Amino acid sequence: TINSGLDDYPAQVSAVAQALLAHDGPTVVLAHENPDGDAVGSVLGLTRALRELGREVYAPMPLPRYLQFLPEDGELEGPLETWPEGALAAVLDVDNNDFSRVGGADMAAFSGPVVNIDHHGTNLRRADALLVDPSQPATAMMLVDVLDALNVPLTEALATPLLLGMITDTGSFQFSNTTPQTLRTAARLLEAGARLNWLNEQRLQNPPTYYTLLREVLNSMEFQHDGQVVLARVNEAMLERAGGNWEDVDPYVNMLRNAEGGKLAVLIKDFGDKVKFSLRSRGGVSAQNIAVALGGGGHVPAAGATVEAPYAEARELLDQAVIAELARAQTPPQPQE
Ligand code: 5GP
Ligand code: MN
Ligand code: MN
Repeated sequence: TINSGLDDYPAQVSAVAQALLAHDGPTVVLAHENPDGDAVGSVLGLTRALRELGREVYAPMPLPRYLQFLPEDGELEGPLETWPEGALAAVLDVDNNDFSRVGGADMAAFSGPVVNIDHHGTNLRRADALLVDPSQPATAMMLVDVLDALNVPLTEALATPLLLGMITDTGSFQFSNTTPQTLRTAARLLEAGARLNWLNEQRLQNPPTYYTLLREVLNSMEFQHDGQVVLARVNEAMLERAGGNWEDVDPYVNMLRNAEGGKLAVLIKDFGDKVKFSLRSRGGVSAQNIAVALGGGGHVPAAGATVEAPYAEARELLDQAVIAELARAQTPPQPQE
């Protein structure tokens, strides 16, 4: 299912702010597994804001190597063993209905109220309080509106992680989701003291294994459909040879995305028994359509899916979905009756 358009944004902002304020038990703040800068920045921003309001907050979030610089010691915790009595779950940047993509806690073992703040077009809009707007570039940007509704003043400690979220999901304000409002909100965060240069200096440092692994990944590159589709693959053997790990791999897809004439970049993470596809698209091609066809989701220009099958089988499914999407993108839209 792909939802688009905006129901009633200001009403949704007040509803989630109200749900967060009205709850007097502990709040568990969560985001999607394998968190990116938007997930981490959003969790840290909301966690800090709720703690400032005197709330008891748990933020069980495992961090990728390149974002470990961001939180203070002890601010985020390891995976949640048992849900605290009377908890509210604030689920950020996670789109699906059963929240099976949530990291750090078992949502299936939770029966309490859920607040969901998200910008995925594939969000199924089922939670007790919802703020979902696919036209927003980042969950972190929506949280700025939520903090305003909570009457929490923007400080450097809140602004820096929220700016990280915005930088991540706009590709440092390069993607087409960067609007005048995006830059206005980013400017507000900078005025509040957000440390833009520090964030970029810290998050863009790569260990040597990043480059040795990159060499392997570049060797695997394929150009298909006259260069419109650019693919690369990573598997365990490559990781072992390079001495790297899976976390080093995520940024490569953005580099593939810059191939001239490319409309679709696919980074294939081959785990042996299953395969994760990271998809990026432009020029009328929808990464989201391909991801949805493979049982995943995401946004039109950036989406992903995990296929529970070995490489050859998963690759067959990918190739079919890609051909279907290229055909759809080339068909001119039918005139409306
Ligand atoms: P990435 O390729 O960076 O992992 O993900 C790109 C986008 O697609 C993100 O918004 C992410 O949340 C979404 N995404 C990635 N994998 C999946 C998946 O397996 N299922 C769904 N629903 N979304 C995914
Ligand atoms: Mn995300
Ligand atoms: Mn996001």
